[in-house]
Amino acid sequence: MTEKADLTAVLDRAAEGGRITPEEALELYRHAPLHALGQAADAVRRRRYAGTEHIATYIIERNINYTNACVTACKFCAFYAAPKSDKVWTRDLDDILRRCAETVELGGTQIMFQGGHHPDYGVEYYEEHFAAIKAAYPQLVIHSLGASEVEHMARISGVSAEDAIRRIHAAGLDSFAGAGAELLPERPRKAIAPLKESGERWLEIMELAHRLGVESTSTMLMGTGETNAERIEHLRMIRDVQDRTGGFRAFIPYTYQPQNNALKGRTQATLFEYLRLIAVARLFLDNVAHIQGSWLTVGKEVGQLSLHYGADDLGSIMLEENVVSSAGAKHRSNRMEIIDLIRKSGRVPAQRTTTYEHILVHDDPANDPVDDHVVSHLSSTAIEGGTAHPELKILSTN
Ligand code: SF4
Repeated sequence: MTEKADLTAVLDRAAEGGRITPEEALELYRHAPLHALGQAADAVRRRRYAGTEHIATYIIERNINYTNACVTACKFCAFYAAPKSDKVWTRDLDDILRRCAETVELGGTQIMFQGGHHPDYGVEYYEEHFAAIKAAYPQLVIHSLGASEVEHMARISGVSAEDAIRRIHAAGLDSFAGAGAELLPERPRKAIAPLKESGERWLEIMELAHRLGVESTSTMLMGTGETNAERIEHLRMIRDVQDRTGGFRAFIPYTYQPQNNALKGRTQATLFEYLRLIAVARLFLDNVAHIQGSWLTVGKEVGQLSLHYGADDLGSIMLEENVVSSAGAKHRSNRMEIIDLIRKSGRVPAQRTTTYEHILVHDDPANDPVDDHVVSHLSSTAIEGGTAHPELKILSTN
């Protein structure tokens, strides 16, 4: 084990903006005192955002799930159905456009088009849908898909990944959401998603996308049984690509939800481990601008705490979410509550765009939005009844 003095020196160096090695990141992740780790990460965040360090952001978006049919059968996934199963559903274009219309109506700026690897959906399917969405709602940013979908659609259409990226970008895709990263190191990836492309291939496609001018976010699924070293290795793999491309706008870890899937078990990542990961990510990923705290899987209070462990963003009010909710994520929220959560954690809330520009800074509570229709999980298929949650409309702002 590293001596305390060594750990303090590494933490100080990281807090001052010095680069740390994967080995040092692992030592910090394992052994640094929690508060000191958070303090160092927060120092880095404050310096990066000097002048706006008092602000924490959120976005209004909608996940639109176009089908649950999937040939990839990831063990942790509670969303998909085998293509021939009677549980398969698909949404037609009219339905998808109606969901886009509702998103615009509620002040949403981004859609995340998300679904299974349907055996018939090649590049043409995405071209057609993205073009139709952009024609009808040019103001909506299509921040969607990831390397796994690119690999799948390219295979179905018999084209290269580069062609697939070029074509869906030309049709309207603005940026990749970084879906499918799960865990990039080989052992844990094979254990939970044996049919998915390798972590190296996932990164290769994201690197290609960045070079073609399509930026992305990056994600990480924590708590399926990966080791601490594998968590840090995931960060290293992202940092190495980022050194070459600078195309990852954000890093977004979230925790495994164990219900209704083949993997089952329990979430093998405690909330402290999640917070430590947020902090180490802020220190280690010195080349990634935004670290996103989550509330959907870890809960609202931990989401608030993440803003003190290096996160500068609290993600989205997901007008619709079905994928993680199908696996048991129970947390729901609305716009007024997200604003309140950020404010009560000591930050000024600001609504942002996909590229993190501030649209609306809520610096005076008297001017806060009062529209209680902007709730998460509107029309969600993962929730019985598929409707908004009336209890979320009541919110104390004391
Ligand atoms: S995570 Fe995605 S690729 Fe894997 S089974 Fe679920 S829908 Fe399919």
